[in-house]
Amino acid sequence: MDEQDPLQQPGVDDETFAGLLAQVERFVRERLVPLERQVDEDDEVPDEIVGEMRALGLFGLSIPEEYGGIGLSVSQEAEIAKAFGWTSPAFRSVFGSTIGIGSQGIIMDGTPEQKETFLPPMAAGELIGSFCLTEPDAGSDAASLRTMALHEGDHYLMNGTKRFITNAPRAGVFTVMARTDLSEPGARGISAFIVNADWPGISLGEPDRKMGQKGALTSDVIFENVEVPPERIIGGVPGRGFVTAMKVLDRGRLHIAALCTGTARRLIHEALAYSAERKQFGKPIGEFQLIQAMLADSEAECYAAECMVADAAARYEAGEQITQEASCCKMYASEMVGRVADRAVQIFGGAGYIADYGIERFYRDVRLFRLYEGTTQIQQLIIAREMRKRQGG
Ligand SMILES: Cc1cc2nc3c(=O)[nH]c(=O)nc-3n(C[C@H](O)[C@H](O)[C@H](O)COP(=O)(O)OP(=O)(O)OC[C@H]3O[C@@H](n4cnc5c(N)ncnc54)[C@H](O)[C@@H]3O)c2cc1C
Repeated sequence: MDEQDPLQQPGVDDETFAGLLAQVERFVRERLVPLERQVDEDDEVPDEIVGEMRALGLFGLSIPEEYGGIGLSVSQEAEIAKAFGWTSPAFRSVFGSTIGIGSQGIIMDGTPEQKETFLPPMAAGELIGSFCLTEPDAGSDAASLRTMALHEGDHYLMNGTKRFITNAPRAGVFTVMARTDLSEPGARGISAFIVNADWPGISLGEPDRKMGQKGALTSDVIFENVEVPPERIIGGVPGRGFVTAMKVLDRGRLHIAALCTGTARRLIHEALAYSAERKQFGKPIGEFQLIQAMLADSEAECYAAECMVADAAARYEAGEQITQEASCCKMYASEMVGRVADRAVQIFGGAGYIADYGIERFYRDVRLFRLYEGTTQIQQLIIAREMRKRQGG
């Protein structure tokens, strides 16, 4: 690593972590799993559940203890993400943008004042953070973003539209990537700002109507002549926002990969149970070798992804540069869970296509993992670029 990453924290001791993980697993299985269908139908996570998430400290999982968080290591955070993968991803999304891309830019590159101001309320779940990078005309090519924040007098004037922003309707602050230097069309002209959601000139689009992950809220965020004080630039220095965004995404990709392994575990569990129960031709379908082949492929691929995540997290904690490994994990795990979900539908047969069984919901939910935080194609490009760099090419 070029510089010490404050997120390379050692984490909590093993006993404390085991207690937290057991608590989270209980919460997921006893409180969240029974609500999966309701959340899908209502497109909303109940406020009561959000309150329980606050009480569990979930909004502060990765925020250092000195700012009121739990201060988990990357490996520990991955274990918790995996535990949340057992249920609908919409639940994790409630706190995911705060512990992930919403707060980590501030932890990694923020000034001491920014950390003091924003991290404690984020850790307490009182201030929800959202990450605004994508725009209508800048998705995979994020460095071409057009949202402007031009220095005028004692402030920056922000104008532009951000698209598909997770938790925008709940957010108290947005981390906004905006161009501060028009003479720099690429990454170097971009700064990261912490912007209060209730400042004049900010409005939200209609909530997006998504294929899956109902209950995880996304919308456009529109900035019209929003006055942003210079002390809201992360780190206080303009032109470093894109570097911050990319560092945040490295770690976020590991988190998403871990989440995918949890969802794959749930789907394997459901498929295995169904294959033991469902009888055709006078015996449980699980006795047919063609069904066993699907179960075995899912198991082996899930196990591979788990090993990848554990290895990449350990390397991160050892101070290695893991851009390549994080992209490998995100690409492999998100594609893997897509295949596992597809096989689960197949093992359930017609029931896999019917909403009552919940498998089709997971099938829709997991599709997103191959798209956001960098599509599979973008991960391929990153992996190949890093391979060539390491080879000196
Ligand atoms: C539900 C949801 C939540 C999201 N949450 C957030 C959020 O909180 N914050 C945020 O900033 N963004 C968020 N996003 C945006 C997400 O990260 C982008 O949608 C994603 O990065 C892809 O960008 P795009 O949609 O513009 O697709 P495009 O970039 O237009 O890509 C279209 C296709 O072209 C391919 N492609 C593009 N460039 C290349 C290339 N060079 N080589 C090969 N293939 C290429 C892509 O892989 C894809 O298959 C969210 C998106 C969704 C759907």
